[in-house]
Amino acid sequence: MVHDKDSYNRIFDNLYDGLYFVDTDRVITYWNKAAERLTGYKAEEVVGHSCSDNILMHVDVNGTSLCHGMCPLAMTMADGESRESEVYLHHKDGHRVPVSVRVSPMLDSGGEVIGGIELFSDISNVKYIETRMKELEEMAMMDNLTRLANRNYIEKEMSLRLEENKRYDVPFGIIFLDIDHFKKFNDTYGHDVGDLVLKYVAETLVKNSRPFDVIGRWGGEEFIGIMRNIEGEYLKIFADRLRMLIESSYIKQDENILQVTVSMGVTNVHIDDNIKSIIKRADNLLYKSKNNGRNRITMG
Ligand code: GH3
Ligand code: MG
Ligand code: MG
Repeated sequence: MVHDKDSYNRIFDNLYDGLYFVDTDRVITYWNKAAERLTGYKAEEVVGHSCSDNILMHVDVNGTSLCHGMCPLAMTMADGESRESEVYLHHKDGHRVPVSVRVSPMLDSGGEVIGGIELFSDISNVKYIETRMKELEEMAMMDNLTRLANRNYIEKEMSLRLEENKRYDVPFGIIFLDIDHFKKFNDTYGHDVGDLVLKYVAETLVKNSRPFDVIGRWGGEEFIGIMRNIEGEYLKIFADRLRMLIESSYIKQDENILQVTVSMGVTNVHIDDNIKSIIKRADNLLYKSKNNGRNRITMG
């Protein structure tokens, strides 16, 4: 059977997973349709560019950039070994997408490494997120700008979780977060660019939470996450990862990288809590994060 380039392209374009090739200088030579969908970048925007050219800018779970030094593609091209990892890629709209990445060396007929192949799949709960958004829209409980649950929904959800906690002792945590120095950001770049930031912050939060967590917009540049069945140190690690992912999210405007940080107040439900008391506690903790220098979480 003869396979020409076009028939390969057709096969690759029908893959559900993102796929791209780089040459030994890490210049992107191929970019499939799923890669366009998952990253927001069209093939013509990335083919011919180095992948470290502010395109994907993978970070690991600690927020360390993988584009310089620890790039899985570079390591695979150096030692010829395939590898798998979970990383967070940069979407053109700004947010971070959790992906599972498999990289393999591309070899010529003599077994020499002539490039690298990266296959990546979105491991956020895409289908679930879509269903949730549809539900919120139908119930008129959606915030129009960010497409997150609105304040009304958050309050209802919190009542349910408080009830569940009292009856069955299921723990939950609250993450109250506020964008740092956002007034200054708006004053510098304009309200419309500020809106784009609100959207990508929302998207980073949703894409990197679990299906049963609810993230909502509390108002202005404040968000609340209701994280189910998680306590103590685990909640802290979870919240700090979200903080780090927002810190490493960005949009580009005329070659400038625009980004924001967030401060958080993080707390678990107490047995005698009501909506007011838990929000108040989270808000006080958030205030501590602001006072201690911002871009941090305070748990209590
Ligand atoms: P801090 O670090 O103390 O939180 O400082 P801040 O400037 O973020 O706090 P402040 O409460 O003074 O400002 C919040 C700003 O958020 C004011 C307003 O311009 C901006 N903001 C609120 N809602 C929206 C919105 O829907 N879109 C945009 N672009 N900006 C908004
Ligand atoms: Mg605020
Ligand atoms: Mg603020």
